[in-house]
Amino acid sequence: MPGADPKILLDSFIKDNEQLRDASTLYDFGGVISVGAPINEFVKDNCMVIGTAAKQVDPIHGGGIAIAMETGVLAASIAIDAHKRKDYSKASLLPYEVKWKDTLGKKMNKRLMLRKVMEKLSDDDFDHIFNSINDSDLSQIMAGNFAPSMAKVIGTRPQLLGVLSALAPGSKR
Ligand SMILES: Cc1cc2nc3c(=O)[nH]c(=O)nc-3n(C[C@H](O)[C@H](O)[C@H](O)COP(=O)(O)OP(=O)(O)OC[C@H]3O[C@@H](n4cnc5c(N)ncnc54)[C@H](O)[C@@H]3O)c2cc1C
Repeated sequence: MPGADPKILLDSFIKDNEQLRDASTLYDFGGVISVGAPINEFVKDNCMVIGTAAKQVDPIHGGGIAIAMETGVLAASIAIDAHKRKDYSKASLLPYEVKWKDTLGKKMNKRLMLRKVMEKLSDDDFDHIFNSINDSDLSQIMAGNFAPSMAKVIGTRPQLLGVLSALAPGSKR
């Protein structure tokens, strides 16, 4: 893919950082993470899909451990109810999917939207945004409340209105 190569940037960061001069690599590893939207259906008769298998992964940084754990707790509670009824049909397991989409799913959708907007920004736009917002704005962004930061950024760089309007409440983009 075109753009910055993270490995080259990491190597040069390590090389230029005095504190890391004597550091050495213990273990190189990698893997594939799907950072698109989750799959549409999480349950079938006798089956629940959880975690990375359901693509329940943060669309921005690819982290999925906490999401998989939270989802595991939710799915387990529904599985316990199904076990009490001895009913493992799709209809019996469906509350897991419905509850997930109404809670974690909503959060993830917002972050996917944010990721798509971030992909359209230039390095200069990023510098501008991070120079315009503060820690509290960043916490709001992470919680999916984009409006206060958007107002600050667009106020000083109105040309970003088109891109950032996708984050406005009620936007269908
Ligand atoms: C290189 C890398 C770095 C990552 N760094 C982070 C990070 O810093 N923070 C973070 O939050 N997330 C990180 N992730 C993502 C995180 O690892 C996953 O989101 C998380 O492990 C998902 O948990 P899971 O239980 O859904 O799946 P997994 O942890 O993948 O567990 C699935 C298990 O099922 C087993 N399995 C597969 N097929 C079968 C089969 N047919 N029969 C029996 N067993 C089977 C697999 O061997 C595996 O043990 C990283 C992922 C990678 C690849």
